[in-house]
Amino acid sequence: MRKLLSTLIVVLLCVFTPRAQSILSINTLPISKKIAEKSAPAFDSVHLINNKVYLDTAILTVNWSNFDVHVDSVDLSVSSDSFLIKLTNKYHPHFVLPVAGAVRDSFRWRNSYRHHNGVDIKLNSGDTVYAAFDGKVRYAQYNRGGYGKLVIIRHYNNLETYYGHFSKILVDTNQYVKAGQPIGLGGSTGRSTGPHLHFEVRFVGNPIDPEKIIDWDCESLHGYEFVVHKDLFKHVQERRQRKYYRVKSGDSLSAIARRNGTSVSTLCRLNGIRSTSIIRVGQSLRVR
Ligand SMILES: [Zn+2]
Repeated sequence: MRKLLSTLIVVLLCVFTPRAQSILSINTLPISKKIAEKSAPAFDSVHLINNKVYLDTAILTVNWSNFDVHVDSVDLSVSSDSFLIKLTNKYHPHFVLPVAGAVRDSFRWRNSYRHHNGVDIKLNSGDTVYAAFDGKVRYAQYNRGGYGKLVIIRHYNNLETYYGHFSKILVDTNQYVKAGQPIGLGGSTGRSTGPHLHFEVRFVGNPIDPEKIIDWDCESLHGYEFVVHKDLFKHVQERRQRKYYRVKSGDSLSAIARRNGTSVSTLCRLNGIRSTSIIRVGQSLRVR
């Protein structure tokens, strides 16, 4: 009985401690609450808990993990709030381009399943890559999910930046870094077909197109402020709206189209196939 009680207490504690909630530290304020911004000191951050905002200073501790690549996040694709991010401030005034080079691949759907959540920058193996802003290294190790040798830095502006495929990592987890500090050497580790930097920008877990913030050709920020709003996460909305169908024995494209209220030509476009293509039993077809 005593054992049962203590188990119950542990379960209750897990359910009701703040960690069990989705707590995210955001060092900015929704535009709708801009009036409050005037009275908020430069270092204050806010908590987004179930889309409510609370003042806090815990940006470098909340949801801090050295082992999880992606920490808990709120889905901002459904949030009606917009957030004004001050990319730099007088305490952390610098931005440095992580590596100069051509953008080889952009933030886009690579196929109907996989969205490329960052940009790929061409580099030579061994090229030095620099921290974009001041911050603290949250993650610095080999990642089996495809990033290879990966560094993730959380910044005072509440963005996290990801640097993938390094040949060598030059920083330790929990190390404070300055904008422009070398953090790794470029390479091709992980799921990569040649030396490049895979670079992501995330705001409370939500990937943002880095080219909306950084002008890679001009090697600078587009501006010192950035507004996060749900339209930046259209790919997440699209993913939610997608529907797939698994091909059964006896199916034809026209039957599948009819059954799912679409046309053969739409099926072909969505799946990159021809109306004459052979479809296999068990194959997954996108129907919406
Ligand atoms: Zn990439």
